[in-house]
Amino acid sequence: MSASCFDLPPDTGFGPENLPYGVFSTEPGGRRRVGVALGDWVIDLSRLDVPAVDALAAPSLNPLMARGPRTWAALRARLERLVCDPEICDAVGAHLIPLDRVTLHLPFEVADYVDFYSSQHHAENLGRMFRPDSAALTPNWKHLPIGYHGRAGTVAVSGTPVIRPSGQRQPAGGGPVFGPSQRLDLEAEVGFVVGVGSQQGTPVRVGDFAAHVFGVCLVNDWSARDLQSWEYVPLGPFLGKSFLTSVSPWVVPLDALGSARLTPPARDPQPLPYLRDDAEPWGLDLTLEVRLNGELLSCPPFREMYWTPAQQLAHLTVNGASLRTGDLFASGTVSGARRDQRGSLIELSWGGTEPIRLADGTTRTFLEDGDVVTLTASAPGPDGTRIGFGEVTGAVRSAP
Ligand code: MN
Repeated sequence: MSASCFDLPPDTGFGPENLPYGVFSTEPGGRRRVGVALGDWVIDLSRLDVPAVDALAAPSLNPLMARGPRTWAALRARLERLVCDPEICDAVGAHLIPLDRVTLHLPFEVADYVDFYSSQHHAENLGRMFRPDSAALTPNWKHLPIGYHGRAGTVAVSGTPVIRPSGQRQPAGGGPVFGPSQRLDLEAEVGFVVGVGSQQGTPVRVGDFAAHVFGVCLVNDWSARDLQSWEYVPLGPFLGKSFLTSVSPWVVPLDALGSARLTPPARDPQPLPYLRDDAEPWGLDLTLEVRLNGELLSCPPFREMYWTPAQQLAHLTVNGASLRTGDLFASGTVSGARRDQRGSLIELSWGGTEPIRLADGTTRTFLEDGDVVTLTASAPGPDGTRIGFGEVTGAVRSAP
């Protein structure tokens, strides 16, 4: 990869080796179209002479995502030349808009949304808290990537206010009560966006991951722990999660993550054949950062996830369920072995029993009204560069 023609901030995660896609507009109610982030700019792709340009004037990435990997690769190759080749990069210069002058929108129309539970550290931490008298992991955990179907219609872009949900909770020693959640939490996750759908009845194999998945975003799976713990038996998460799921405005193409791929952790026992890694497994060396009101709380390591996104996709379709353009599946909370690698407040405060002390002298167990949570991430790029994922942020508002 050559250097960009344009002056980029030295520490930008949006260099020419990344080129993440988003949807933007330049005035309130204005036309939404597809752009690519480069440094502190967005490139208005709908104005360029590039492959699939007819899909780039759309108000979402779905038409581009539906075209498939050959179109994605052709467009990406053309964009790399346009931002790096001094002979032709003037064509881009006229269509750079400062990021601080655009509004970023939900980048894709979410078809179905699934959330997994694939960090062993996270699953063991929650198992120890909720089921102290049983094994930390349930008997199925190492045999299949556990997940649940979430609510696609409440997936929203970064910056969407987090209105504190109300619902039923069960205080110790009393009957259920109704009211605003008192244990509102964050979950730092990584999301995978499906571009190419699949036929009903035909599972997607582990090795076909890149033929279907377009790119990667950040996800905050906001969770009301008190609602969740009362409602989740026996069918799993419901209203404790469905009020809002936030995603980052940028989708990093899989092709930008070649230098981030690595071997996932060893699995013991060996999973069933349909879940076995192929020759090039999809472990990814992303490091997340969780901030509360600007203060760094933890750095969850995605490389330690037990199940890869390719295994998750294979499991999600092994019963014959079909995929659609715009399907989103998220990794589950990313937590590492260390305390400063935990991806949720319920782990960081150990169920609320160990308050977190903040730099301003206050403490937190769960989120308070006015709190701002920001997730960021980066991964290694080629030649010592970094691939940035932008951020997903949200401010908590009081229950209405
Ligand atoms: Mn989750």
